[in-house]
Amino acid sequence: MPEPDEKEDLKRIKDKLLLNREMVWDHLDEKEKERVFIFAEGYKDFLNRAKTERETVEEVIRFADERGFKRVGAPLKKTKKIYRVNHHKVMAMGILGYKPIEEGIRIIASHTDSPRLDLKQNPLYQDVDLSLLKTHYYGGIKKYQWVSRSLALHGKIIKKDGAELCLKLGEDAAEPVFTIADLAPHLSRKAQYEKKLEDAVIGEKLNILAGSIPFPDKDTKDRIKLNVLKYLNDNFGLIEEDFVSAELELVPAEKARDIGWDKSLIGSYGQDDRVCVYTSMRAIGDMENPKHTLLALFLDKEEIGSEGNTSAKSRFLEAVVSDLLTLAGVTVNEAVIRRSLMNSKAISADVNCALDPDYQDVHEKMNAAKIGYGICITKFTGSRGKVGSSDASAEYVGWLRQIFNRKNIIWQTGELGKVDEGGGGTIAKFLASCGMDIIDCGVALLGMHSPFEVSSKADVYTTYRAYRAFLSEDL
Ligand code: MN
Ligand code: MN
Repeated sequence: MPEPDEKEDLKRIKDKLLLNREMVWDHLDEKEKERVFIFAEGYKDFLNRAKTERETVEEVIRFADERGFKRVGAPLKKTKKIYRVNHHKVMAMGILGYKPIEEGIRIIASHTDSPRLDLKQNPLYQDVDLSLLKTHYYGGIKKYQWVSRSLALHGKIIKKDGAELCLKLGEDAAEPVFTIADLAPHLSRKAQYEKKLEDAVIGEKLNILAGSIPFPDKDTKDRIKLNVLKYLNDNFGLIEEDFVSAELELVPAEKARDIGWDKSLIGSYGQDDRVCVYTSMRAIGDMENPKHTLLALFLDKEEIGSEGNTSAKSRFLEAVVSDLLTLAGVTVNEAVIRRSLMNSKAISADVNCALDPDYQDVHEKMNAAKIGYGICITKFTGSRGKVGSSDASAEYVGWLRQIFNRKNIIWQTGELGKVDEGGGGTIAKFLASCGMDIIDCGVALLGMHSPFEVSSKADVYTTYRAYRAFLSEDL
């Protein structure tokens, strides 16, 4: 038996040597706990207002205006804070630092889009005397999760004459919602139960119930469909052809809610990746006179591989860096932009999967993130031999770890499931192609990509603090 003194020594050695993962809650005093809960209220409010990529950008614009950021295009003299929006879906907020931009920018990049159901371009039809809408899902959904639940319709329609119509239906309790009726268990044995889960509900059957009252003239074909069109024409001036130039998205109609007796968790649609949008937006909103130039990027189309003109693969970042250089009075050319990006340090602000108590086998527990253990650092994503991932360097992870430790940020590391079993992608690799250092850093979720994803309020608040530390670091 060791003596008491000796025992102390041994404990000291143990504490010093072993990696110690800690719960955020254990580090919060009463005042900080209060801050965690207050922050969560603002976040839930944001989630309820920002249910699509367009609405997310609108909310970030509102925030940027409130915090005195000036929109590129307006006269920009005597400002250090700007924002730029492209195609209503992608956005950047930037603050000029007092060091030259060419020495590198501090970038946090999140994404505004979430998995959902999009209406097809010819969606409306009638079958067995019901009016229905055809959809094509967007992003990695588990289709069975989207049936038998209330869905709200959000989006934009460009009418025949070019007029724009924004629709949002099903969020207010008085408004109707939409749904996909699932098959009764009594009838499901062959049609669903005997199939693989993945095949039990197929994409082409994700058809939305949209009405059931017939057009009064009994001699008309497709009377139920026509009656829906009549309603849309009477109320919004729409005709069937208008669906062609529309982006209409179905998202869960329910609101963000607290989960559990202790209200420590948040359940909501769209937390991937609006949790990182919100926390990075709040973090850059707090910054004044930074040393380095700062940039919060809010990109679109991450969920479908960052394709398209609003994605991380578009040249939006270069345009924003060019804005910042102009604002700083630097003559802009491609070499300056390239150098600025090459010297930058970035966080790919995205979520990871938390260790699921019911499916612990899909994780390798030593390297899985856990709910309540702070911001999750993911060195690489990818799958089957890190394929398709941006693998952050030891130097960069070391640098970031020092910042977090110095600011007492509780952090953990994560990976996307077991080797050869999990994997995935984020925007990190696309920004990395500019040569900057970048690493994935965000909140670990349960039920990721589901209509009701779960986060910990402590992790959300810690992520906001971590992004602040990253933006204000002076290492
Ligand atoms: Mn994501
Ligand atoms: Mn995702």
